[in-house]
Amino acid sequence: MKKIIAIDGPAASGKGTLSRNLADALNFAHMDTGALYRAVAYEVLQTGGDPTQETAALAGCKSLQDKMAHDDVLSNDALRNDTIGEAASKVAVIQSVRDALIALQKSFANAPGEGFSGAILDGRDIGTVICPDAPLKLYITANVEIRAKRRMKELHSKGLDATYKAVLEDMRARDARDSGRKAAPLRPAEDAIIIDSSDLGEAQMLETALTYAKKAFG
Ligand code: C5P
Repeated sequence: MKKIIAIDGPAASGKGTLSRNLADALNFAHMDTGALYRAVAYEVLQTGGDPTQETAALAGCKSLQDKMAHDDVLSNDALRNDTIGEAASKVAVIQSVRDALIALQKSFANAPGEGFSGAILDGRDIGTVICPDAPLKLYITANVEIRAKRRMKELHSKGLDATYKAVLEDMRARDARDSGRKAAPLRPAEDAIIIDSSDLGEAQMLETALTYAKKAFG
């Protein structure tokens, strides 16, 4: 059995932290697939392009793929701000952009690399599109006010200015775009286990997920 864990959920649901903690605990390789869409958006914005335009977005994909061959572009700190997050959710609406990024994600899931026991991918469509056969699918959610507070704290800790009202509005807009789009909308797979992280801390989240991983993989 392929050891793959698919983790999906909206922005600031805690899925990224959980994925990293789970990957460490299980010695699984981890791919943050949101970073791919962010990196495409970054390429588009760097060249003054419009992230809603297919031609510009596909050129961004091409540029990213060229750079990925020799650079660790996905670790760029500049990808982590909300302007890029917003632009990422715009390029992510375009089906041809999603198609261009599928092979990369599937091959990571199937061959996570020497020394790893399995793969964890987190994103929006991992359980539904990228790894529909993953033996363990988690869908992490939390109410939008709590997610906005978390995101605000994170931005402040990086010295970035942000008001709660603006962050909440951005989060609602991104949720609506991610869930309402035609191409691979954000939704739990039918066999996903839904975990509400609103009242759970990092350690409790990890403990809960490890219990499910033990059931799935022994
Ligand atoms: O998870 P993160 O906030 O980094 O993702 C940025 C954006 O990339 C999301 O709002 C979503 O529109 C898009 N995305 C996606 N499918 C994925 C991962 C991210 O559409 N698997």
